[in-house]
Amino acid sequence: MKHATDIELEQYLDETLNPLRKFTLSRHLNACDDCQKRLKEAEAMRAKLKHLSVGLARLRQADDEVSHSRVSRIQPSNTSL
Ligand SMILES: [Zn+2]
Repeated sequence: MKHATDIELEQYLDETLNPLRKFTLSRHLNACDDCQKRLKEAEAMRAKLKHLSVGLARLRQADDEVSHSRVSRIQPSNTSL
């Protein structure tokens, strides 16, 4: 059996691979260290990207909080005048 392609490994992780291919691929993965390694690498890369996007989301949120606190700092002084 031929090795899994990068796309197939991605789809395997996404669980968008068709059931038959998924079945044959998982069987191949059990037998093929090479593809197992590639799947782990793809998974690690994915985890890294996820971590990165979470970090970016937090950064954006923090930015929002800063601009909110800036607004709330301005508003009370405006209303007290
Ligand atoms: Zn393989």
